[in-house]
Amino acid sequence: MQTGKIGVTTENIFPIIKKFLYSDHEIFLRELISNAVDATQKLKAMASAGDFKGVIDESPIRVTVDKKKKTITVSDNGIGMTKEEVDKYLNQIAFSSANDFLDKYKDQINSIIGHFGLGFYSSFMVSDKVEVISKSYIDGSPAVKWSCDGSPEFSIDEVEKETRGTDVILYIDKESKEFLEESKIEQLLIKYCKFLPVEIAFGKETEWKDGKSVETGKDKIINNTKPAWTIKPSELKDEDYLKFYRELYPSGDEPMFHIHLNVDYPFKLTGILYFPKIKSNIEIQKNKISSIAIRFL
Ligand code: ADP
Repeated sequence: MQTGKIGVTTENIFPIIKKFLYSDHEIFLRELISNAVDATQKLKAMASAGDFKGVIDESPIRVTVDKKKKTITVSDNGIGMTKEEVDKYLNQIAFSSANDFLDKYKDQINSIIGHFGLGFYSSFMVSDKVEVISKSYIDGSPAVKWSCDGSPEFSIDEVEKETRGTDVILYIDKESKEFLEESKIEQLLIKYCKFLPVEIAFGKETEWKDGKSVETGKDKIINNTKPAWTIKPSELKDEDYLKFYRELYPSGDEPMFHIHLNVDYPFKLTGILYFPKIKSNIEIQKNKISSIAIRFL
């Protein structure tokens, strides 16, 4: 087992993460899932460049809540990390960028954290302890477990793990119990992950049987990995645009018309602008464009 102290100026970082970042704690989930998406896409990119010859199954990123153990786990089948990479990426790079981030923005932290993110260490906003169990895509590399209890000390051990990829396990602290509610996690996944490009599974689909709702055993996928704005206009019919609008705004009138933006120069922009029907009895909201339907690349 390897033990050590994270980074250099560590003594005060965990209290800062925990105590002073009192709003927007929920962004921890977005940060962990975006790491899982990156890890999955890195492996796909390596496979298409011929640098990874193994099998890439399309299994989703999985989020699970265990109320008894008070844990939330985010699992991916992405690139994974070797022992050296865990040490480099989590103990050094992620830590020092979290440290720099906090140092720079201490005073305005609550207004900007939602926009820029704190990365992996945001998990300590809601956890007493965090474990990362990872197995690299590199053949024969042993799986490792990194564990840190919110003090600057961490440990890294070799462990058993069958499958490639990374599990991040958060031991949720007393003040953050709300995140052990499945409905809360589902709401956050919809808020932050609805159009991420890798499938995210949370819980199972349900169906009505004999007058009650029962689980089907099929993963419930939270996100739409191919939102309409990423598809060529020539491949979409009017009903596809309407279906996508319904996904964004399930209730309310149909839009009057839409424009699919697909610009390459002077900047790259894809998006769909929907124009609502204007009613005389509602106030028109000027300057309000949905940041979901329009995306600058
Ligand atoms: P960022 O994602 O902005 O680089 P983070 O602090 O969130 O910063 O993560 C630091 C690094 O740790 C990542 O760049 C990546 O190399 C590694 N990492 C984190 N999560 C995972 C994961 N699920 N799979 C593989 N590598 C990961």
